[in-house]
Amino acid sequence: MAYLIPRWLSDGASTLLDVHLPSPCITCGRTGTAMCVECLEAVERFRGPECNSCGLPLSAGTTAVQCDECRRAPPVVRSVRSAGPFEGTLRTAIHAFKDGDRPDAASPLASLLLVPVTRLIAGSSVTAPWTVMPVPLHPRRRAARGYDQASLLASHLARPLEWSAATRLRRVRETNPQVGLGLKARLANINGAFHVEGPPIPDTVLLVDDVMTTGATLDQAARACLAAGCTDVCAVTLAREP
Ligand SMILES: [Zn+2]
Ligand SMILES: [Zn+2]
Repeated sequence: MAYLIPRWLSDGASTLLDVHLPSPCITCGRTGTAMCVECLEAVERFRGPECNSCGLPLSAGTTAVQCDECRRAPPVVRSVRSAGPFEGTLRTAIHAFKDGDRPDAASPLASLLLVPVTRLIAGSSVTAPWTVMPVPLHPRRRAARGYDQASLLASHLARPLEWSAATRLRRVRETNPQVGLGLKARLANINGAFHVEGPPIPDTVLLVDDVMTTGATLDQAARACLAAGCTDVCAVTLAREP
């Protein structure tokens, strides 16, 4: 004869387990922290010379300070830095963070942004502190996911820097996914998608996002910030593709 566990007891047990079992690492699955030290150390980082505008890695030993593209057409965002390329451990972690219902991974992932922020400050003539501003999801996508990954990254980044984080940048238009689109199509898709709510922003804004691909989203978010009166826009992302 099977022993039946009363429903109230099994529900209570699973709730207790949820509360007391530490979450597994988002990349290796070992139980302990949201992203373990070994996996954080396994993330490939950008270390070499990089374009001072868009952050694109430049060939070793170069004397150039900008890539050809930025020399031809200076981007709206003054300077972007990313922790590393969108591949390997970092790619797995970002996918799990965004699509695996793991908002708890924001804190360890945000720690990866501290080095690129330091490089931004070092390469910039603009004095800190800056206003940290996440590049938001559209409210409908945020509701479906249950959280906004860039907002979580921004608040975890702002805390150790003792900078203020402002969530006044809004995505006012729902856009199609940018995946698979070229730069022109991405710009057309994202054009006018952002707006800053509230009074003018007098400072330099530091945009925060998870992945930069062509920079079209950052470009449009930066235009909205400049229209709201900010003096300069820089950006930091976890990963850069390609
Ligand atoms: Zn791990
Ligand atoms: Zn560049």
